[in-house]
Amino acid sequence: MSTSHKAHCLILPYPVQGHINPMLQFSKRLQSKRVEITIATTKYLLKNMKELPTSVSIEAISDGYDDGGRDQAGSFVAYVTRFKEVGSDTLSQLIQKLANSGCPVNCIVYDPYLNWAVEVATKYGLVSAAFFTQNCAVDNIYYHVHKGVIKFPPTQNDKEIIIPGFSCPIEASDVPSFVFRPEAERIIEMMVNQFSNLDKVDWVLINSFYELEKEVIDYMSKIYPIKTIGPTIPSMYLDKRLHDDKEYGLSIFKPMTNECLNWLNHQPINSVVYVSFGSITNLEAEQMEELAWGLKNSNNNFLWVVRSTEESKLPKNFLEELTIEKGLVVSWCPQLQVLEHESIGCFLTHCGWNSTLEAISLGVPMVAMPQWTDQPTNAKFVKVVWEIGVRAKQDEKEIVRREVIEECIKLVIEEEKGKLIRENAKKWKEIARIVVDEGGSSDKNIEEFVSKLATIS
Ligand code: UDP
Repeated sequence: MSTSHKAHCLILPYPVQGHINPMLQFSKRLQSKRVEITIATTKYLLKNMKELPTSVSIEAISDGYDDGGRDQAGSFVAYVTRFKEVGSDTLSQLIQKLANSGCPVNCIVYDPYLNWAVEVATKYGLVSAAFFTQNCAVDNIYYHVHKGVIKFPPTQNDKEIIIPGFSCPIEASDVPSFVFRPEAERIIEMMVNQFSNLDKVDWVLINSFYELEKEVIDYMSKIYPIKTIGPTIPSMYLDKRLHDDKEYGLSIFKPMTNECLNWLNHQPINSVVYVSFGSITNLEAEQMEELAWGLKNSNNNFLWVVRSTEESKLPKNFLEELTIEKGLVVSWCPQLQVLEHESIGCFLTHCGWNSTLEAISLGVPMVAMPQWTDQPTNAKFVKVVWEIGVRAKQDEKEIVRREVIEECIKLVIEEEKGKLIRENAKKWKEIARIVVDEGGSSDKNIEEFVSKLATIS
């Protein structure tokens, strides 16, 4: 077999920001190790993105919703189903087009929500790698739902769900929200489906790092060929080995960069609460109100991302009465630049996995306010396993009250009780850098992946 061609990976993310960004960062790492990259995204997304990465080549395929995208589908389940019907053909066409243009593909790295890509890889004799954008703990839970070990309704005591691979039992409220919601049965089917043909793939790549999840990774590695390759944030924030590596990803939102950074430049070191609930999560109006007053009453100043679709839930006159000394509310910010800023004292977060991993990588302690999907599991690990944050407790109406918010912020930023949390956050930042630097656990895994690809190209 010839070794004269560069290996060429076709990257197929699920087309939302939180899935594309980590796959893009991984692609850049591959590219820096002489792998050619083509990212396949949907026609709709390609037309509508405010910012597109320029460092990698992007091609469009159809998901069956070229004019309206995911919103047109009406539901996650409808979207994934239609993408499956249309995607295989359009992905095959792209593979043929690349072959005809003299750049044949050797490998497909796909998001397991789109697990039909495995059949396409098999059809063309390509290496296949599933890329899980969530951490290994969450994947392990879905795997055990797939195996029927975790069932709805919970058969075990709520306090004692024993999941193989975890060192301690976890509670029902720590499990991804869909698992125990009967109305989410079809969504769970999709989550579980990620594992239905996973035994056929050559690699299972996880957006995490070994040191963070040793036990569960050791356990899952006995079942699947797992390789951790994270944290997937630009190298400039970690090992600084990739040149000109500012590009973060794809976004439909425009960051208010100057406003945020100018404002932060005037704040004392380690003093500001940065608040964001990511790109999708919506809060109940009552929760928004409690949060608003909790932030306003807190001793600390705050930078709060309120997406324009959420703004109407702010209490009446909140923005008008807010002084610029106390807080800044923006519709979107450059999150990594914010988290890196020396004025940030804590991150009040929904614990989406990207946000969590970004906070870990930049050493920022957290106040966790998980809402749904994998966020409760991430929050559990933040609090109990990594000890880099607290979880703000909800009341019986599932609302976190303003006093609780104030207390959590105080504990994490300034109290003696929060010292260990602050120290641990710093410790994880250093480990996150080491793992992607030369010879670190994630770097070695990426090297291994690349050398195997090189032998078949
Ligand atoms: N993000 C950002 N600016 C903001 C808010 C969020 O760039 O104002 C980015 C953040 O850095 C993260 C992503 O949006 O990479 C959110 O992903 P996450 O998995 O945390 O949450 P999701 O949006 O998927 O719920």
